[in-house]
Amino acid sequence: MRFEEAARKLPKLALHLEGATSSDLGEEFNFIEVSAEAAQVLQNLADETTLHFEVPSKTEKLYTWNAVGILRGADPALEHEAVLLSAHLDHLGIGKPVNGDDIYNGADDDASGTTAVLELARVLGGGPKPKRTVIFALFGSEEIGGLGSMYFREHPPLPLKDLAADLEFEMIGRADSAIPEEDLWLTGWERTNLGPALAAHGAKLVGDPHPEQNFFARSDNFVLAKKGIVAQTVSSYGLHSDYHQPSDDLAHIDFRHMDTAIGSLLAPVEWLVNSDFKPQWNPGGKP
Ligand SMILES: [Zn+2]
Repeated sequence: MRFEEAARKLPKLALHLEGATSSDLGEEFNFIEVSAEAAQVLQNLADETTLHFEVPSKTEKLYTWNAVGILRGADPALEHEAVLLSAHLDHLGIGKPVNGDDIYNGADDDASGTTAVLELARVLGGGPKPKRTVIFALFGSEEIGGLGSMYFREHPPLPLKDLAADLEFEMIGRADSAIPEEDLWLTGWERTNLGPALAAHGAKLVGDPHPEQNFFARSDNFVLAKKGIVAQTVSSYGLHSDYHQPSDDLAHIDFRHMDTAIGSLLAPVEWLVNSDFKPQWNPGGKP
């Protein structure tokens, strides 16, 4: 059924980062149209037969944007290490109209996370310099396959081994009824010791109550986690029906929740950027 639906669309190569052959977040398949005879041949091939296709294609160069800010650490022993606070600045743009509205605002996904990063940047940047370096990154083109985070990973502002942790903020614009109202959840909770450490320092953070959704592997954090960085996503997305709809707009944002959520993470994040705590993967936790 899904194939038939997909086959009606014009074949289109998945967008990818220049020089990269695959994406850690995006679609990994393309459509190839073949003749009836060729289809017959393909059908009769044994399972796991490797095929090599050569098709003419023309490439179109597009651009995306990351917005990155760096607050250099003040402690000579710790400033070479960095904590990354990230979110994505893109959404779906203009698309299929729903009830006459074709603007996909992305207020929750992910203007809410972007707001958290900007607010943490404002507060950390306005106070005494943290001991460790803090990188604030707003990635472009998350929605079409984590392209901004892939670029960041391949061209990092400091060696990846010096990235102590990444906290990605995604969809914190409403409370999730699956957890206590003021709380947020962290994807991949059981994979590392980062969540428990933040909780021990006052973060109202709990494990992701929707493990069947595999959110750990669906955000920019995963692109970094694939290279071994302890990278997890903070969220309170309660599977609401405005997800990826024009109705993910300001009218549906719960500002009191967002304000409380961001405020509650301030002290734990301040602890993290001033400590020498380097989060570790738990056995079997690394993707
Ligand atoms: Zn998102």
